Amino acid sequence: MKLKRRGFLGGFNRFRLMLTLGLAVVLPAAALIYVNFSQLRAFERDKVLEAFIHRDFQELLAITEKKINKKAYAMTEDVRNLFPSPDIDTQEKEKRLDLILAKSPWLTHVFLFDEKSLVFRSQPHQMDNKYVREEHERMVEGYHVWFSADGKSMVEAIHKKTRPINFYTGPTKRADGEAYMTTAIFVLPQLANERVVVGGATFDPCYLKNTFFPGLLEEQVTQKMNDQGGNPLAMIVYPADVEMGHETKPLATSPGWGEGKPEVSRKLDDVFRGLALGIKFQGTSVAALGQTWVRRSFIILGCLSLLIISGLVLTRHIVSKEMALARLKSDFVSNVSHELRTPLALIRLYAETLELGRITTQEKKQQYYRIIRKESERLTALINNILDFSRIEAGRKEYEFRNTDIAELVRNTLESYRYQIEQQGFAFEESIDADLPAVPVDREAIARALVNLVNNALKYSSDEKFLGVKLYRENGVVKLEVADHGIGIARRDQSKIFEKFYRAGDPLVHNTKGSGLGLSLVRHITQAHGGEIAVESTPGGGSKFILSLPLAAATAQPGSA
Ligand code: ADP
Repeated sequence: MKLKRRGFLGGFNRFRLMLTLGLAVVLPAAALIYVNFSQLRAFERDKVLEAFIHRDFQELLAITEKKINKKAYAMTEDVRNLFPSPDIDTQEKEKRLDLILAKSPWLTHVFLFDEKSLVFRSQPHQMDNKYVREEHERMVEGYHVWFSADGKSMVEAIHKKTRPINFYTGPTKRADGEAYMTTAIFVLPQLANERVVVGGATFDPCYLKNTFFPGLLEEQVTQKMNDQGGNPLAMIVYPADVEMGHETKPLATSPGWGEGKPEVSRKLDDVFRGLALGIKFQGTSVAALGQTWVRRSFIILGCLSLLIISGLVLTRHIVSKEMALARLKSDFVSNVSHELRTPLALIRLYAETLELGRITTQEKKQQYYRIIRKESERLTALINNILDFSRIEAGRKEYEFRNTDIAELVRNTLESYRYQIEQQGFAFEESIDADLPAVPVDREAIARALVNLVNNALKYSSDEKFLGVKLYRENGVVKLEVADHGIGIARRDQSKIFEKFYRAGDPLVHNTKGSGLGLSLVRHITQAHGGEIAVESTPGGGSKFILSLPLAAATAQPGSA
């Protein structure tokens, strides 16, 4: 009844522990892994990273446009401040405009329109160029007509602006092909609003293409890299009305553009209307980056999940092991009490019988004395085992190695068992080599190991009663073999029987009394001598325990029993 109750409680405890492990560790871990995976998948599906980068690109393009415009305005305002009054004579105006051109090599044309007359000057050294000359003639004629017709309304409109400048950007021609020129048209600051006077300056297309845009783009890209790092960027300026393809020639690019389309683009407004700004990563695309990022995140998450799972498996393993050990310990207590009770009961019974004086024959008396001695020997052996075990567990077990004639030690130990062995009907074979050298051992410990092995052989034999003990030398070690033809040991138990408290699950074993300490002591003793213990056994076919001791002094540290 008691045992059943404990079994039930043990099961309940195990259940409670597993439940706690499940609810407190496995479930949260599984939920965490699941949530992370689905979040990553959503990231991948909705292209969140790509969208994020695109937004960042848009922002950078807007900032770049602002910078470009600011610079264009500032340069134009500098020129505007140099403009002469419209009220001086034409020759003087020409001189002043030429001076502006000389000071501002990035301009191609400057002009001043006053009511009806237009003074138009171009960079003298560029006038050799046929494209510039044609442009000059076209503009002189066109602008005169334009300003005469629309000058008034134009001036009114410009005056309404906070920065009184209008910009016109359009295609033109140069020797190396298509070019874009930008003309600023403004009113002069000191004049009354009603006067139809406009000044103007045309940015040199070659300057825009080769200096102005590339410089600004590079500056922006470098600044972004310095601020945030990451993959190197590249920017481009191109005509807005053409679809950017491989064959389209960009107007200007930052270094490292290479080829291909921009990832994100923005049509320019105000100063450079008609042109567009584009941006991309150097040598890679946002989609590829997104894929790499997602793949890397999946790998990292996978590794972390694996770690968590291995942690859980390990924890479960350790918990199970600890629980099994706890069970073994409680079995041990009941086994030992049982083992103590039986010899004590026998001793008491025979002593009482003798005391009553009813036994008359000397032979009977001798038999009773022998039983009492044998049972007390069994008690001593058991108590010695327990004491040794507790010393080992507390780390206080000490061995005293002395050069010993091991053949004699084994022979003497067996001698005191011979009677018991034969009494129990065992066929006993003893084979001890005569010419063994002295071996440094702790005599008491080795005798105890042998006694434990012999006891086991006697305990775990049923039908065929055989005990064989061999002592011989082989390859520099002394081997002590204890063999029986008993119940044998299942393969899965063979590695465990040397652990403390462990007893095989075989019902044949459970019919036999035992504490599960014997073999763990044998192993500890052997290792303390720098030796090894091995077992060869088949269920039903008997077992053989082989203890090897080195001939030289023991140097190995004892392992735990
Ligand atoms: P105990 O014999 O007190 O149970 P041991 O540590 O001496 O403890 O042995 C551990 C287990 O190994 C035994 O319970 C038994 O299952 C198995 N065993 C040991 N020796 C033999 C043997 N000679 N034949 C069969 N089984 C054995």
